[in-house]
Amino acid sequence: MLDTLIVGYGLAGFQLAWQLKTHNKNFLIFSDPYIEGASRNAAGVCNPTVLKRYTLAWQGLAFSNYAEEHYANLEQQLNHNFFQKLPIHRYFFSTAEQNEWYTASQKPGLIHFLNSEIAHEAEPTMKRQLGYGIVEQVGRLDIKGLLDHFKQKIAPSSFREASFDYNALQLTPEQISYQGLTAKRIVFCEGFGLKTNPWFNYLPLLGSKGEYLIIKAPHLIPDYLIKGGVFIVPLKADLYWVGATFSPQDKTLHPTEKGKNWLRQKLEDLINVPYEIHTHGAAIRPTVIDRRPLLGAHPQAPNIFVFNGLGTRGALMAPLLSKWLYEFIENGKQLPEEVAIDRFENYFSTRLEPYA
Ligand SMILES: Cc1cc2nc3c(=O)[nH]c(=O)nc-3n(C[C@H](O)[C@H](O)[C@H](O)COP(=O)(O)OP(=O)(O)OC[C@H]3O[C@@H](n4cnc5c(N)ncnc54)[C@H](O)[C@@H]3O)c2cc1C
Repeated sequence: MLDTLIVGYGLAGFQLAWQLKTHNKNFLIFSDPYIEGASRNAAGVCNPTVLKRYTLAWQGLAFSNYAEEHYANLEQQLNHNFFQKLPIHRYFFSTAEQNEWYTASQKPGLIHFLNSEIAHEAEPTMKRQLGYGIVEQVGRLDIKGLLDHFKQKIAPSSFREASFDYNALQLTPEQISYQGLTAKRIVFCEGFGLKTNPWFNYLPLLGSKGEYLIIKAPHLIPDYLIKGGVFIVPLKADLYWVGATFSPQDKTLHPTEKGKNWLRQKLEDLINVPYEIHTHGAAIRPTVIDRRPLLGAHPQAPNIFVFNGLGTRGALMAPLLSKWLYEFIENGKQLPEEVAIDRFENYFSTRLEPYA
């Protein structure tokens, strides 16, 4: 019998698999080959600050400290580099923003990340001439590189390239069965795919579509992250990720002309150099009504779990969340109430009779 079946292989599925692997538990991951998911489209910026409002994200310091140590450890164990510590240059659009930056940089929490000094020198490749503030202790996770490495080099036999068929799942209190496989439990990590999961689709996952561009810009040359209307993230050679739009209403997966125009406009407000569009992509972020993750067991079936709601900050939060979920499943350790799905118990009305 397997220890755990995992449905979905984005950041949530990966981090849970990593927890299981480090605790010598076996697992099998179902990964839908036709839906790429948010993780493989994301920039991978790992940043606990909210640069629009100059605040710290919920539990930002705890998530950031844990993620930093976790990624260093992961790189060492996998003998591969996936995480690059890079500062963010937050460009200003007004002098008021410059003043707010200084005040924010003195606030508890933010003091760890915002350098109080404002850089006034003009970057020749940038149109903005009001300078920028530097966010430190942040960086970028190469999500695709990490997911591919783990799947191809570390645990290739633990994957099934298939869409999970919810109707074929059979449950008893002792075990779960699925197409000839048995396991102690199953953990659903489907990102926005949760919407079609009959066990957990009562949870208020909203989803927010994000479109982005990958551009080729040989004259841009920064080895840092740029934020100013959009994020510009160096990838490799002359390629840069630029994004993203935020459209909570649109749940389609295709990129749109409107999204592209918006991104181009923001980019051209910021940079001063020519570029070509290499890729235009889109995906749906698994955002939740109260902007907190979704962790826990099904109200009627204690061997079915969910790991979702990573929202806009999967790279930052997934490492510590996976630890919390593992300890909840394995040792019965209580989840922080902000992330536990019990907070939505009132939303649960459909009785699925799991063990009937
Ligand atoms: C444009 C964009 C930019 C972003 N930038 C950043 C960023 O810079 N930093 C950051 O931290 N976060 C960013 N995010 C958010 C980040 O992508 C998410 O927080 C995170 O990746 C969600 O991971 P997940 O594993 O929960 O979901 P996903 O990555 O969506 O993975 C879910 C997986 O489950 C699979 N699946 C679904 N249903 C089934 C099924 N029935 N059977 C089998 N498999 C199934 C899907 O195929 C998918 O691969 C961005 C998101 C977008 C869209």
